[in-house]
Amino acid sequence: MMTIIRDLTRYYRLLRRHGINDSHSGNASVRDGEQVWITPTGACADSLQSWQLVRCPLDVGTCPRASADLDLHRAVYQHNAKARAVLHAHGSYAVALTMNGRDYVPADLEGELYFPRVPVIDLAYGEYFTHSPDRVGKALSEFPVAIVRGHGMYAWGEDLDQAYKWICSLELSATIRYRASLAGTLPSGDGEN
Ligand SMILES: [Zn+2]
Repeated sequence: MMTIIRDLTRYYRLLRRHGINDSHSGNASVRDGEQVWITPTGACADSLQSWQLVRCPLDVGTCPRASADLDLHRAVYQHNAKARAVLHAHGSYAVALTMNGRDYVPADLEGELYFPRVPVIDLAYGEYFTHSPDRVGKALSEFPVAIVRGHGMYAWGEDLDQAYKWICSLELSATIRYRASLAGTLPSGDGEN
């Protein structure tokens, strides 16, 4: 258990340290049998300590202090038996490039290899918490990573490292795509995401 909560804290901090989250955005969880360890609501990645993580039942029930995205994390685990970790970040390039609501298609080789298409889920901002668990849970039963339009990305992994990889790789891919677009070097016919 100590390893789980130490690693969860570490990866949540890494997302912030590398600019993929702001001080308080995003969240992170790990499945531990029939329980989920998750970052607390309002967590600050710069100062979060392992003892502040919250342990909740996997299926249902309120869990005071847990991230407001708890039900979304639960839905991912319920839709995907292989998932052991879920990370959420507000990667600015991935979010900016998909404001039009169209699925993200990478231009770079690694992105194409890992995620030829990243689904973009378009939810009214006011209905986010009502619909995001079901929509993101279903998307992550088919894809390693998904983007919620205007908000951020969610990724699952068989461990934290794998989920972290999807988030980082998607954000770098979006950065490359954005810079190629500015440079005017995207292949013709690929000018729009
Ligand atoms: Zn968020």
